[in-house]
Amino acid sequence: MSDGRRTTIDGVSVPCDHLIDGERVGGGELYAVRSPVDGSHLGDIPDGNAAVVDSAVAAARRAFPEWAALGPDGRGDILDRFAQAILDRAQDLVMVDTADNGSVRAAMLHVGTGRSAHNVKFFADLARTLEHPPIEGPVADNSVRYDPSGVAALIVPWNAPLMLGTWKIGPALAAGCAVVVKPPEWAPFSLSLLGEIATEAGLPPGVLNIVHGVGERTGAALVSHPDVDRISFTGSPDTARAIAMAAARNLTPLSFELGGKSPFIVFDDADLELAVRTAAAQFMNAGQVCLAGTRLLVQDTIADRFTDALRDATSKLVVGDPRVEGTNIGPLIHPEHFERVAGFVERALASGAKPLVGGKPSALGGSWFEPTILTGVEQSSEIVQQEVFGPVLTLQTFSTEDEVIELANGTEYGLAATLFTGDEARAERVAAQIVAGTVWINCFYVRDLAAPFGGSRRSGVGREGGIWSFDFFCDVKNVAVRRSSFTS
Ligand code: NAD
Repeated sequence: MSDGRRTTIDGVSVPCDHLIDGERVGGGELYAVRSPVDGSHLGDIPDGNAAVVDSAVAAARRAFPEWAALGPDGRGDILDRFAQAILDRAQDLVMVDTADNGSVRAAMLHVGTGRSAHNVKFFADLARTLEHPPIEGPVADNSVRYDPSGVAALIVPWNAPLMLGTWKIGPALAAGCAVVVKPPEWAPFSLSLLGEIATEAGLPPGVLNIVHGVGERTGAALVSHPDVDRISFTGSPDTARAIAMAAARNLTPLSFELGGKSPFIVFDDADLELAVRTAAAQFMNAGQVCLAGTRLLVQDTIADRFTDALRDATSKLVVGDPRVEGTNIGPLIHPEHFERVAGFVERALASGAKPLVGGKPSALGGSWFEPTILTGVEQSSEIVQQEVFGPVLTLQTFSTEDEVIELANGTEYGLAATLFTGDEARAERVAAQIVAGTVWINCFYVRDLAAPFGGSRRSGVGREGGIWSFDFFCDVKNVAVRRSSFTS
């Protein structure tokens, strides 16, 4: 088996080439990837062209029948080994992910890799027990089958490549699909290493293929490929539009998990200490979290107390080297993204917003930006309406339930909402009226893989998670048998 070109990242040897049919192969011009942590050159990645994508899709197509025929138990045995191998290599994956995208090492070690392994193990287990209750009609008995759909294209963003990659790879493979994964071009290495871990764990050649490259070339070739049966994409709404148009030509079913501008609502009957602590946690991963509650909406009766406590909690966050224990906020992924975040804040300040904390690049230099909370913002302003995807929150106040629901629903997004209140009836009322794929009440970022996940409005199309993942990755088939029609 060809090992292809390799690079060493923080002592971990990582493959740089595409993974197609179990082989590491080149194809496409090389481009350099730099670490957001120290600007070091991590390695060169091939920018896969249409021919590369073609051979990856063909490899997946060839591997599909045997993988599907293994059934949930046969696949599950291999996926269990894959999940265990992720845990065994957790340390290596964390080293690479941190260098690759700047995520805080301790958080990745304590949560990220465990969750990545769980993404594989959970869906392998669910597939083994997946069944739909029989549907008895007047003439025939209906039984529902979850047949694997074929080749799935999985497109992953840079903010959490390992976690979001396995969140697609796990259910797609458990469903019996063969996959072609497109890692993010700014942070391609942890998924590249994951491909090797999968191979070593016994995944047959061609079942999991990886094509590297920039979105507009490699990604575009993949989503417009006529032999792809499913497209699962996580990323920005603009890219989703381009993918939807490409997929339309082949009528390829798709699932989109997109951006957010989620409200974080605090009523005056809430546990204030918990609400403040959770609000300060919205800066995790330097705010590069689609689910972050970036719009703080605080009842006016507690606004001063909340604001003082949050200013205090935010000032305790450690902005620094993500490799160092104790750091809370690392750098933004890329100089280009840093400029984008800084631009949002500059324009907001120029139009009258006031920094409660932060408001400027960190004195550390590089791509670090201070955790920032802006007050004095208009609901219609860019900073309230557009996803910044950095450590930037806005704070608005409200007086009534109706008012906060209007503010909460007043953007184009609908990914998540977080709500703090001590009143159960109010929690139920408000949750029912908020447009979002997920509403957290007195908690945040609780992700049970059995629950549906996705976004409303511009935040997504479809739902994944639990059986919803199988609804998407499978061809759900109804078999209707005329009652008492068999003679043997
Ligand atoms: P992006 O849309 O720029 O890129 C995402 C992926 O799509 C990358 O792998 C990229 O190479 C690829 N791509 C780009 N153009 C393509 C094309 N024309 N065809 C096919 N693929 C293409 O997003 P990003 O900047 O990497 O990630 C940030 C965005 O992702 C934010 O909007 C964030 O909210 C969103 N996000 C959403 C979730 C969620 O679960 N809802 C999770 C994480 C990130």
